[in-house]
Order: sequence, then C-alpha cells, then structure tokens
Amino acid sequence: MSASVGVLALQGDYEAHAKALARCGASPLEIRRVAQLDGLAGLVIPGGESTTLLNLMRDEPWFEALRAFDARGGSVFGTCAGAILVSREVRHPAQDSLALLDATIERNAYGRQVDSFETELAVAGLAAPLGVAFIRAPRFVALGPGVEVLATHADAPVLVREGRVVAATFHPEITGADGLHAWWLRTLS
Ligand code: GLN
Repeated sequence: MSASVGVLALQGDYEAHAKALARCGASPLEIRRVAQLDGLAGLVIPGGESTTLLNLMRDEPWFEALRAFDARGGSVFGTCAGAILVSREVRHPAQDSLALLDATIERNAYGRQVDSFETELAVAGLAAPLGVAFIRAPRFVALGPGVEVLATHADAPVLVREGRVVAATFHPEITGADGLHAWWLRTLS
C-alpha cells in the first residue's frame, strides 16, 4: 500500500500539488483541519503567500500539530511559501515559522525585474532536468550543517533536505514536470 499523503489546503497552490501527486499514483488528501494530520506519512505545504497562510493558521493549533507531525516521523515538503514556513529563521521581514529546517530564508529575494521566471534545474537524484517556476521566490541565505543541497540556481541553494524535511524555493507543481513529486513519494516508503 502506498503511503498516505496530504497537501495543506488552507491557501495557495494546493490543487496543482494534489494533481501532480495524483499523476504520480498517490491519492492525496486536502488537509484543512489539524485532526486530518493523523495517519498521514507526508504533507506538502504549498506556495502561496506565507503571511496569509500564517494568519489562516491561527484558527487551529497548526504550529503545535505540525511540529508534532514532524516529531512523530511525518515528512514535510515545503515549496516557496511552504519553504518559508518550515525554515528556522525568516527575514525581509522577519516572521513566525515552524523551524523544522535549520535554515535562514529571505522572502521576495529576487527583486522586481525577475520576480517570476521559469527555468530548468538539475536535481541530485533525478535523471532529467526539472522544469520549475520561481514566483516572488524566497532565497536561502544560511543553511545549518545538517542540511543537504539537492539543487542550486545561480549559485544559490533552491532545493534542500534535512532528514524528512524537504524545501524548495520554487514551484515544482505548475509546469507539469512531476519528477520531484515522484521522488518525494519514493522517500516516504
Ligand atoms: N512571496 C511569497 C511569500 O513571501 C512566496 C511566494 C510563493 O509562494 N510563490 O510568502
């Protein structure tokens, strides 16, 4: 039986993530309530707007629940705003975060002219380059010693992993390239 996976569906690009996971053979659940985390093996936190997401997370004890999910061995895959949310420290401006990943991340780090662009990335462990989109993307400015870099763009880490926490500063879900979702599902089994 394949692992049970969910996509945090409070805000942002959760539907496209769910479709990508489904194309890879999973049956993802849209997670809107804390109680739905029970029994999940993996959770995608999608891109969107991290401040809005933080506001919506006030309705229920999401911070406690997601930290407990991580502590009991659940895997978290944060993309863009999701990467901001899982990082230990957020800058530009500073805001609250789950601190599941030993990283410092700067929001909206690509400036105005190139605030959104698509590119192909070489990803460690993936046979083919991955088409991805950077949309008002953040940038990792410091990584702890236990954080592994799986892909870089213009010399900056853009896909990292620390144990069961994976974070991408880009959107892997909107180009139709499902390689990263397929890889993440394999890490859960
Ligand atoms: N700029 C957004 C933020 O700071 C992230 C953008 C995204 O998720 N595409 O939350």
